[in-house]
Formats: sequence, C-alpha cells, structure tokens
Amino acid sequence: MSKFNIPIARTSLSDEEISSVLEPLKSGWLVQGPLVEDFQNKWSKFTGSKNSIAVTSCTSALHLSLASLGFKEGDEAIVPAFTWISTANVVEHLGGRVEFCDIDLDTFNIDINKIEEKITHKTKAILPVHLFGLSADMDPILEIAKKYNLWVVEDAACGFGSFYKGKHVGTLGDTGCFSFHPRKAITTGEGGMITTHSDSIASKLRCLRDHGAELSDLQRHLGPRPYLLSNHPEAGYNQRMTDIQAALGSMQMNRADEIIKERKSIAKIYDEEFKNLSFLQIPKESEGYSHGYQSYPCLFMPDEVKENNIDETNSKRNKWMEKLALEGISTRPATHAVHMLEYYSKKYGIKPEDFPNSHAANNCSISFPLFHGLKIDEQSYVIEKVLEFKN
Ligand SMILES: *Cc1c(COP(=O)(O)O)cnc(C)c1O
Repeated sequence: MSKFNIPIARTSLSDEEISSVLEPLKSGWLVQGPLVEDFQNKWSKFTGSKNSIAVTSCTSALHLSLASLGFKEGDEAIVPAFTWISTANVVEHLGGRVEFCDIDLDTFNIDINKIEEKITHKTKAILPVHLFGLSADMDPILEIAKKYNLWVVEDAACGFGSFYKGKHVGTLGDTGCFSFHPRKAITTGEGGMITTHSDSIASKLRCLRDHGAELSDLQRHLGPRPYLLSNHPEAGYNQRMTDIQAALGSMQMNRADEIIKERKSIAKIYDEEFKNLSFLQIPKESEGYSHGYQSYPCLFMPDEVKENNIDETNSKRNKWMEKLALEGISTRPATHAVHMLEYYSKKYGIKPEDFPNSHAANNCSISFPLFHGLKIDEQSYVIEKVLEFKN
C-alpha cells in the first residue's frame, strides 16, 4: 500500500451545497424553475455575458448553439483535432462535416496559422476550444471568422475562471459552451451553460432547449393564463437543466472566486517545482491570458518530441503512469486526439500523422492531480514522486 491514494480529480462540495438540493425537492418544482433562473443570473454576472442558458451538458450546449445559428446538413465546421470528442460529435449530429485543424503544442489549443487553409465555401463555423482552462488565441480567430463570415462557437467546457485579455472565455464568440461534469471546476453532476450577448440567439436557444416552446413552464405558470399550453414554433429538443442541479451550481457560484484562486495556487506550486525539469513542459500562461486550470496538462518529453519518436515516448509515458499509479498517484493523458479515434479515422480516412501535433499531444501528454480540496501533503507527495523520474 502506498502512503496516499490521490485521484486525478475529486469532487468536494460543502455541507451547505449538498443540502441545497433539498430545497427544490421540498418545494416540488424540480425542472428548470426559479433555481435555474438564479444560476443563470449568477453565471451572467460572473462571466459578463448578457444571457446565460442552462442546459443538460456542454455537449448539448454545443449542439444547441450550432442548431440555433442555423448550422445544417452539408455545412462544415473547423474543430481542433485535440479536444474532447463531443466538440466534433455535435457537427456530425447535425449532418455536418468536421474539418480538423492541428494544434499548437505549446498551448494544446488550435493553431491559428492553420485555420484559414481549412476554409471552403461550405465552412460555416469555427469551434475554438479553451482546452484545460487556457483560452485559445481569440483575436485572430475572430478576425478570420469576420473575414469569411463564419460563426464562432466557443467550447469553454473547461473555461470557468479563464480570461482572454480581461474577458471571460465564452463571451467572445457568438456563443460560449460550459460543462458542469464532475471533472470541471464547478459541477452539477451533469450540466452545461450557454452564454451569448445576442438576445435573438438567446431566445432561439431557450426555445430549442425546451421542446421548441415559445414560453417556458415557469413563464406560463407565472403568466396570466397558466392553464393554456404554449405555442411551439420549432421542433425543439429537451435539454433542460433540473432545479436540483441548479441549486448545486448556484451555491458553488457563491464561492466562485475562492475556487478559482485555489486552483491557481495549486498550479503555481507545480509550476515552481516543475519549471526546470527537462522531461516536462508545463502549462503556459502568456501575457493577456489568465489560466483557469481545469487541469494541469504537461507534455512529457524525455527526448525532444519528434514525429519519429512519438510512439517510443508514448510507451515511456505509459510505463511512468503505471509506476505513479502503483505509488497511489493518478495521472491521465491530457485528453484524446479525435482524429485518431475509430469513428473519425474510419469515416474520414485520417492517419495519426495527418495532424502531427495532436498526435504528439495524444501520445505524450500527462495531467497531474489538481482539484479543489487537494491537500498540501498530497501535492508534496505528487511532486516528490514526479521529481524521482529517471529517463
Ligand atoms: C468536458 C468537455 C466536454 C463535454 O462536456 P459534457 O458536459 O460532459 O458534455 C466538451 N469539450 C471539452 C473540451 C471538454 O473538456
């Protein structure tokens, strides 16, 4: 048995947060009611977005965003090849074609110099991802989008507490999509939020998440004729958040600053200890960026990462991960390269080396435990074991 057993992430909710879910259970209003309203208001205030629309997950947020903008069968969307699979899946769900774009290995985010060459007359949207809490380089992305008249749907699943030139991520494009999965900084179990400055996109989103209804149940119940059903101008979806989830989310928003501060301070301790290690590239936080540290993704590079040694480095990394696991420390690849997953590699006939940086990130990245409530002695133990690595 090892001294510790440290997971990659651990949910830590206060007693007050846990008991907050009893309120809707006792009131009897369970789905998209006053507590969803409350959570959305706090989200708008915190991010500086004009509108926030709570949904069932970030995946449904991305899906509804594209649907609300009018993305349809045959349209193309540009998606970084290194991201969680759902950024690409939502394009498929709407009958579109995914155009993968390689990433920058320094940031794990979309390589802004490779976007323009992916644009065709069918391209309708760019989906930049603020991976692991670091904003994508949004100014050039917004410039390209303007030049070619493309929508920008930000995948800000990991973006809570992440800022780009002073603005919260998710407020820069047409819409921003957040996740409340337990691996993210704020959790409602499953859950998501869409932010948008546009009132017309917002009302389309509200309609689409609620079976295409003109009025929500709450609006109807509080309105003059609660006994009549709403009109349905759209064939919508059911992507409503429950008030049980919203109670949890809303309570966590009361300590939003504290949660972000703690994640940053854990990351800074790792930075200090790991910055001079030749075998690890630590997360970057350049001028103008404020990292939210959804996780702490590094590039493992006992040798310089080159196309011809990616597989060798991969087996060294996996051996090291196994050793750390035996010592009670959970690590993970930062995420996966979507173009290497079976569905996409088969359907589009793509090879790993077609997107070399995403391939390298898939095979050579490693994330270390970082979560609210990680104890000092736990982090010291992780650091001690990482420093013991020998090539
Ligand atoms: C977590 C994550 C998602 C999916 O979020 P869900 O809420 O689980 O649907 C999408 N994109 C990225 C980049 C993520 O990290």
